[in-house]
Amino acid sequence: MSQETVQEGYFGEFGGSFVPPELQEVLEYLSSQFYKFKDDPEFVEEYKYYLREYVGRENPLTYAERITEKWGGAKIYLKREDLNHTGAHKINNVVGQILLAKRMGAKRVIAETGAGQHGVATATACAMFGMDCVIYMGAEDTRRQALNVFRMELLGAKVVAVTKGQARLKDAVDEALNDLVQNYKNTFYLLGSAVGPHPFPTMVKHFQSIVSEESKRQILEKEGRLPDAVLACVGGGSNAIGAFAHYIDESSVRLIGVEPDQAATLTEGVPSIIHGFKCLVLLDEQGNPRPTYSIAAGLDYPGIGPEHSHLKVTGRAEYVTVTNDEVLAAFQELSRAEGIIPALESSHAVAYAKKLAPTLGKDGIIIVNLSGRGDKDVEQVFHMLK
Ligand SMILES: *Cc1c(COP(=O)(O)O)cnc(C)c1O
Repeated sequence: MSQETVQEGYFGEFGGSFVPPELQEVLEYLSSQFYKFKDDPEFVEEYKYYLREYVGRENPLTYAERITEKWGGAKIYLKREDLNHTGAHKINNVVGQILLAKRMGAKRVIAETGAGQHGVATATACAMFGMDCVIYMGAEDTRRQALNVFRMELLGAKVVAVTKGQARLKDAVDEALNDLVQNYKNTFYLLGSAVGPHPFPTMVKHFQSIVSEESKRQILEKEGRLPDAVLACVGGGSNAIGAFAHYIDESSVRLIGVEPDQAATLTEGVPSIIHGFKCLVLLDEQGNPRPTYSIAAGLDYPGIGPEHSHLKVTGRAEYVTVTNDEVLAAFQELSRAEGIIPALESSHAVAYAKKLAPTLGKDGIIIVNLSGRGDKDVEQVFHMLK
């Protein structure tokens, strides 16, 4: 572990910051401000205030009695990120970073978005904090996600359709970084997952760790002991790293990240540099990032957070895949048995819980991080099941 502490921003060989010098300077300043404020009592108090009064935390750790009975094995608990304002975990990180932006004197927040979920969370919080908000989105994605574009505009954000390159997420990130380099004096770049150059993975983990801070306290209250396993779906890795954070040093707790079998970054990836940091990446034969596919838009990313890459190669966490059919079954079974419609992303973790529960026996305890609610996915599933 000593290596990580020696070299800031590295998790074993992964992480770091591989960006042009002018951007490096901006990131170093950001990093210094993050470390200055993250444990400042006033900052922490303000962060907790907005989590309580705006996001609606703490959210419950619900015992899912009926699927536990149905799937026959370990007790399954659901950490209810689906009950947050805006319906997912992303808002935890957005609130934290906006408070930092305010401390740094920024008047303007910019962000990238793929499917639109991070853009909507950012636009929401910018409305509440009275910040100007610009969201960069690939032109291709703005067409596929027209309703999310309208949602962001409704919340007062300006959505810029990026036509460069393939007009997808990567190009939106590049445009946002260009904007940051030009306007760093009054602008804060609010990154949406535990990816990107230092300090973003560390910062996003910090603000998402609230998930396991709460779940650990809650499971000890309910069961008097730690769980046997914590499960979370993995896109860039922010809900998973938040769900794992307070258990990483508890060696009795298995940490299991669940990926779509067609975007199995951790299961099949190799060490490489993508978007300014080193992680496991899915590459094609030419050594370029391989196109991924997932029925869950939020999991469709060829890279992965550097800490997950490290947890994978050291064996501290396990990473597994599930198929689309298993995900669709889990989506329907949880809805039917518990009256909770999970996001398609979260349904990956639920699908794996179904396989894991019988192997642990009735004395086992599993926590599934329910990263978001599935209302956004109902229409898509309707068409898939027709
Ligand atoms: C965005 C999203 C994800 C994937 O992102 P991570 O950074 O891997 O957490 C998972 N679940 C939901 C509901 C999302 O909106």
